[in-house]
Amino acid sequence: MNRKSDSDKNKRGKLYYSFQAISMVPLLLYGIVVIIFSSTSFRHSMQEQVYTELRNVAFLVDTLLDTAYPGDYSLVDGKTLSLYKGDVNITSDYTLIDGIRERTAMDVTLFYQNTRILTTIKNWEGERIVGTQAPTQVLTDVLQEGKSCFYDNVIVRDTNYFAYYAPLRNGDGQIVGILFVGKPAAEVNGQVNRALSPIVIVGVVLLILACLFSVYYAGRFLKALYGLKSFFSQVATGNLSEELDPAILKRGDELTELGRSALSMQCSLRSLVECDTLTELYNRRSGGRHLACSVEKARSKNTPFTLVIGDIDFFKRVNDTYGHLCGDEVLKSVARLLRKHLKDKGYAIRWGGEEFLLVYENSRLEDALESLRALQEDINSTRILFEDTVVSVTMTFGMACDPTMDLKDLLREADDRLYYGKNNGRNQIVTCCGGKSQQ
Ligand code: GH3
Ligand code: MG
Ligand code: MG
Repeated sequence: MNRKSDSDKNKRGKLYYSFQAISMVPLLLYGIVVIIFSSTSFRHSMQEQVYTELRNVAFLVDTLLDTAYPGDYSLVDGKTLSLYKGDVNITSDYTLIDGIRERTAMDVTLFYQNTRILTTIKNWEGERIVGTQAPTQVLTDVLQEGKSCFYDNVIVRDTNYFAYYAPLRNGDGQIVGILFVGKPAAEVNGQVNRALSPIVIVGVVLLILACLFSVYYAGRFLKALYGLKSFFSQVATGNLSEELDPAILKRGDELTELGRSALSMQCSLRSLVECDTLTELYNRRSGGRHLACSVEKARSKNTPFTLVIGDIDFFKRVNDTYGHLCGDEVLKSVARLLRKHLKDKGYAIRWGGEEFLLVYENSRLEDALESLRALQEDINSTRILFEDTVVSVTMTFGMACDPTMDLKDLLREADDRLYYGKNNGRNQIVTCCGGKSQQ
């Protein structure tokens, strides 16, 4: 039974999965959206920063060129193409742009019209890639339309660049070329990823922790719920001694209240099923079960045990003389006295009508006899008041005390002694037939 109820408690039903889904799915979705959104905007802002740096460097190059070599750009078409700024041939003057490259790790190129004249970009052989053209889109945007533009996927010599292109103008504002400042995309992305990875890792770890937390608390809640469910199903199948998981009663929330109500319901059911409504003693069915357990316990532990059958003398006369309700009142009063005298010694059972079983656990015959005498005296001296009538009764008792005997034989022996007492003057305690009878 226990193993079955344990497996019932651990069996996960639909509610378990629905509950976990309710708590986990929004959390996961929210977490994933937040991680994606924040990493995208972080990537964006890092790229914005790169663009700003590229623009600043382009402005710096332009200003430095103007300061170092005042005057307009012009191309002299001799043996080789020579770019002049003012009166100076700057075609092979790399001090400025190489210096910028060294300090900023950004490549710089000067186009005259659409031809690359000066550049820091080199091919695999280590030669500068002068004489090559700018991409067509750049020519349209910058050279023709005069716009300064950013591009995040310009391919220069098989390398992807984040690039800023700005028109080069002469003093009269005429566009004569293009200034390129760029950074390899792999470098930018590596930089972004290095900065982003701790943020993503922290986000994922927090999300995992939040999920674990939610699973843990949902699990605790569901464990209590399954504990209650198992308790109710045990009670529903008639197991009124099922115990409720003590953790449920320690929670201090609504489930605890539910647990308490379930326990009171179990208690009420138990008393309805096990107790006699009039006397509130064990009824014959549940009393019989308790008695069998007590005999078994005394037998296995080899402890003393005494069984007594008591019957109210001439009870029919009480009913006949004062009425049935008065008889009921007498039964209740006798039951009260039985409870009082058996407290801490055992229990009483309403065995039938006006007949009671008194079970003395862990009591030898002499101890039980002593207690029984006190009870008998109490009964004899009690005046039961019903409406205007005062009634008193006596009882006859038959005792048996050998737990090695079969329960049926034990009951028969006690009953025989009660019968003997009834036939020998009543109001007495009989410990053995034909021999001594205690008055
Ligand atoms: P004895 O001394 O031989 O035991 O005589 P007695 O009159 O007590 O025994 P008898 O068996 O003749 O009568 C028992 C009566 O108890 C009969 C029955 O109506 C009555 N009785 C049984 N249960 C109840 C009950 O719940 N309430 C009332 N008021 N009377 C009950
Ligand atoms: Mg009787
Ligand atoms: Mg009787």
